[in-house]
Amino acid sequence: MMNKNILCIDDIQANLFTISSVLEVAVDYKYNIFTALCAHDGLEILLKEKIDIILLDVMMPEIDGYETAKIIKSNKKTKNIPIIFVTAKKDDESISRCYEVGGDDYINKPFNYVELLSRVAFHLKLKEKSYLLAKEREFNQNILDLQNNFILVTDSRKTISVNNAILNFFDFKNLAEFQEKCGCIANKFIKEDGYFSIAKDENRSLWIENLLKKLDNEDVVVKMMKNNEEFVFTIKVNKYQDYFIITLTDITQITNQNLEYKHDANFDALTQIYNRNMFNRLVFKKISMAKVNKKPFVFILFDIDLFKKVNDTYGHLLGDKVLKDISRLVESHTRDSDIFARWGGEEFTLTFDVRIKKGMEIAESLRKYIENENFEGVGKITCSFGVTQYKENDKIDDILARADKALYEAKQSGRNRVCQA
Ligand SMILES: [Mg+2]
Repeated sequence: MMNKNILCIDDIQANLFTISSVLEVAVDYKYNIFTALCAHDGLEILLKEKIDIILLDVMMPEIDGYETAKIIKSNKKTKNIPIIFVTAKKDDESISRCYEVGGDDYINKPFNYVELLSRVAFHLKLKEKSYLLAKEREFNQNILDLQNNFILVTDSRKTISVNNAILNFFDFKNLAEFQEKCGCIANKFIKEDGYFSIAKDENRSLWIENLLKKLDNEDVVVKMMKNNEEFVFTIKVNKYQDYFIITLTDITQITNQNLEYKHDANFDALTQIYNRNMFNRLVFKKISMAKVNKKPFVFILFDIDLFKKVNDTYGHLLGDKVLKDISRLVESHTRDSDIFARWGGEEFTLTFDVRIKKGMEIAESLRKYIENENFEGVGKITCSFGVTQYKENDKIDDILARADKALYEAKQSGRNRVCQA
């Protein structure tokens, strides 16, 4: 048996006595009865005791039952306590007034004992149920709020529920602000290649259906902005009854790290130009293209003359600086379509989409740029160049062998010169 506290407010002592004696024989609950002869005393008890339900007389001197109910319902601490009016009034206006002022029910005087008991028990159970429901809702929301992932529930047009993570990200105070300022989460998806977003002319209510179709075959990522910063998320959708539960997982850091790894895999750490791996891949692609579109290109292999002497004389730090400086210098004379890489040691490779005659001119001008440069801490540096043009059915090794031969020739004939093969 559960203990419940009932407050009875009535200006007639005899009425309070009758009600109390009826409630004492209840079997569902064990009631502790608090009584008050006026609104003032009743309100005082309400603030001191944990009252579960109130039985309230309407006609009382000074503050009547209606006014009392208004006061109780306007106080945050007491507004959820059910109020049952116990009144002699039977006219429609008086009855509807009971509900208008926040009453939950009414019983006519003189009352039927069974009716009084069952109404009281009914409202107590109702209160318990709504309390449990609210607790359950709070529990579920807390679980959602503990997730780092963004979780929201939508019917595809309107957002029904969001967790704290997503509110914090967008700096929204609550669901209402989210609904007002964002509406549908898909409005936040940035349109960019490789990322899911809603097309301008797309039927907006269909976006989740389209997303679900896409998710059948692949992982889907979306991009959203916060303070001019880009964030990348994977997106998942679960259908639940008529709703969709959307989960967004922030993968910005991993994505950036991948880009970094990708950069490290393709670029030479010292000079920050392409490494041999990347060069091979790009030239392989270039050869495949050349086979199809018959566009010529030249391949240049060059290296720094007597580089070992630079290292031995000035030390490796300055040697490294020369490699970096030459990379910057040559890079400044190339365009995006030219492929420039460090082949290894003091050797570099280049391709240009030109014929051999023009290729020789380019190599010659690069040779001069380097020759004319004053390298900090080292002074003059020169390079030797081997140049060759792509021929039909060439493989990378064929081109490289010819360029190597031409470079060898340039070295043999006195360095700081350009030879072709
Ligand atoms: Mg009265």
